[in-house]
Amino acid sequence: MKKQISQSLVLFVLMCVVSACAPSGQDSQVALDESFGNLKASESAADWELSPSNFSTKLEELRASNTSSKEFCTALMKRSDEELALISDELNDSENQDLVADCSVEYKARVAAYFKAMKTNPKKRAGKGIKTEVRVFDPHAIRFIKGTESILKDKEVILTFDDGPTVETSSQIVNTLRRFNNAKAMFFMVGERVQNSANGKFAAQIYREGHTVASHSMHHLGTKTLFKNEGKAALDREIFKAHDLIGEKAGHISPYMRFPGGTSNEAIDAYVYGEGLSIWHWNMDSLDFKTPNPAEIVARVKRLLEKNRKGVILFHDIKHQTVLALPEIMHYLEDNNYKLILPVEK
Ligand SMILES: [Zn+2]
Repeated sequence: MKKQISQSLVLFVLMCVVSACAPSGQDSQVALDESFGNLKASESAADWELSPSNFSTKLEELRASNTSSKEFCTALMKRSDEELALISDELNDSENQDLVADCSVEYKARVAAYFKAMKTNPKKRAGKGIKTEVRVFDPHAIRFIKGTESILKDKEVILTFDDGPTVETSSQIVNTLRRFNNAKAMFFMVGERVQNSANGKFAAQIYREGHTVASHSMHHLGTKTLFKNEGKAALDREIFKAHDLIGEKAGHISPYMRFPGGTSNEAIDAYVYGEGLSIWHWNMDSLDFKTPNPAEIVARVKRLLEKNRKGVILFHDIKHQTVLALPEIMHYLEDNNYKLILPVEK
């Protein structure tokens, strides 16, 4: 009997040692399952960006709990190519390089193969040309631009790109816009992004090319929670400092901003536009964060345009799928006689 107990004990200890030595990827798998599940359930960019289980937040938690790259990679490599493509911009984030160290070559190859297969070959045809009209949106007269679509005319569209800039993808977005008769858009930039010197230089190029530069906060955190915990100090840091920083890097910033996830509350709105910034929303969400398949984004934007006929479209210039979808969307706008509106403050 005694021998039996000691044999089981040895076996138990051995199993513990073995399981501790061989990472099962359990925690990372739970985190990834939660993130992908939440992404599927998200009905808008706001839902996803402010969810506690979005990828950036989950990856941050894994980093904080000292998850090894071996463990994380064991879980990551079980996901499909489509899922890897979907979260590739978060994986590529400089903060996550230790976490992905063990599988960075492998996941990058799988993501590249996925997007290569998704690359459409839009017919190189001469476009009719799409017109951009520069229009003044005075932040003192129109301080709270939530229902912007109501002040646009039929077939008038404002293209907006959030969360960038990153040289790799934003430059391709800008190249596409240039090809379409120098089309112009609004870029709601994140302060943290422009702190990187290459991205900061690219922010300046975006402004020099005639696009409208605006702010999308410093660290892309949930403004409502920050405000509840820290009051105005959080807004000074996240909104106004970001505004100054982006303006400094880009060479100019318009007095326009968009909250992360697009949401705030009355007290925050009052403070922010009391300081002279107008707040921008959207009425057409491309959901480009939800699928890596550009054809799905193109189809969705076409449906939204058919339904609304005018308004503000939300895209993310950090997404490779958006880079791939944009040419077809521009062709659609051109073929259907849409006019682009570029808001400027004066
Ligand atoms: Zn955002």
